[in-house]
Amino acid sequence: MNNQSAIRNPKSAMRRIVVKVGTSILTSDSGELTTQYISKLVESLSNLRRSGLEIILVSSGAVGAGMKRLGLTYRPKSIPLKQAAAAVGQSRLMQVYEHLFGRTKQKVAQILLTHHDLADRRSYINTYNTLLTLLEYRIIPIINENDPVAVEEIKFGDNDTLAALVANLIEADALLLLTNTDGFYSSDPKTGQGELIHQVDEITDELLDLAGGTRAATSTGGMITKLQAARIAVKAGIRVIIANGKKENIIEEIMNGIEVGTVFLPLDNPVAARKRWIEFHLHPKGEIVVDAGAVEALLHRGKSLLPSGILEVKGSFGTGEAVVVADKSGKELAKGLTNYSSYELEKIKGKQTSRIDEILGYKYYDEVIHRDNLALLT
Ligand code: GLU
Repeated sequence: MNNQSAIRNPKSAMRRIVVKVGTSILTSDSGELTTQYISKLVESLSNLRRSGLEIILVSSGAVGAGMKRLGLTYRPKSIPLKQAAAAVGQSRLMQVYEHLFGRTKQKVAQILLTHHDLADRRSYINTYNTLLTLLEYRIIPIINENDPVAVEEIKFGDNDTLAALVANLIEADALLLLTNTDGFYSSDPKTGQGELIHQVDEITDELLDLAGGTRAATSTGGMITKLQAARIAVKAGIRVIIANGKKENIIEEIMNGIEVGTVFLPLDNPVAARKRWIEFHLHPKGEIVVDAGAVEALLHRGKSLLPSGILEVKGSFGTGEAVVVADKSGKELAKGLTNYSSYELEKIKGKQTSRIDEILGYKYYDEVIHRDNLALLT
């Protein structure tokens, strides 16, 4: 096996994969669920499951299928209508999956998630345990965003991100993003000029700039959300493949190491699980601006953040909440859990650790953010 196929065919070492299928391949332009396609997908996944691989399916298509049932010809703009479409469509979607997986004797389960479920540490761990138990029972969990109840603040927004976060949560070996193009192109494939990029070693900002938004009436994400999702997954040590879900036997080809789609290589030193949770799931409540010495200590010497390096505190936050650490120019460097509230930090910023007790009358910790609770963003 040469290197290239080893990269594309890590089957022997693979134990668990997340497969995400987008609305554009699950529903027709008129919003009909493409049962013929779904039936092939189901067969491929059931075969893989039988071969011993653990599979999690992240499926879109609820809003698309719901549009049809509500008699809409356009993707709903108003939130209540979109949420109603998702509620109607999700049960239809599961009905189709239940039926088709049933024909292959494969059991499935439905899990609907919001960002909130994964931002809370206890429910994050609960979700992890539930998924693991389902996998132990050889069930294929089918996950979608809980669109009918999700409000803006708790939305994943698109299923590419959701799939990457699920892959991170469940420590998958690979994430397959199946869409309606052959992979990631050096420019928009619709212009006919772009070339398919077979392998991406690093997802740079320039690469993100290359990716455009979506134009389809039924779908949410575009190449940009896929790249952002891939960035999350590779940080967690997960390889990602973007490929054309419409092509026959695409999943088999990917798993057999055939050079299809675009593969994104995982980082050699993935970020630790707790830090990934902080980085990917917590919404920051404020910002701590630090001086050049602290930047150096945090980024290059693996140190914790001490009060002495703090120049400014923005926002109002309490002990244990997530905050962003930025340099003087506003560049975000890290996200972490603070041991002191914004009120306390106003008093101890710029001061030596030895003076915390004297100033506040008590001291919880020497560190404002311990390095174990600090995820670097750069
Ligand atoms: N959760 C949405 C749905 O089921 C899809 C979002 C997406 O396609 O990214 O329709």
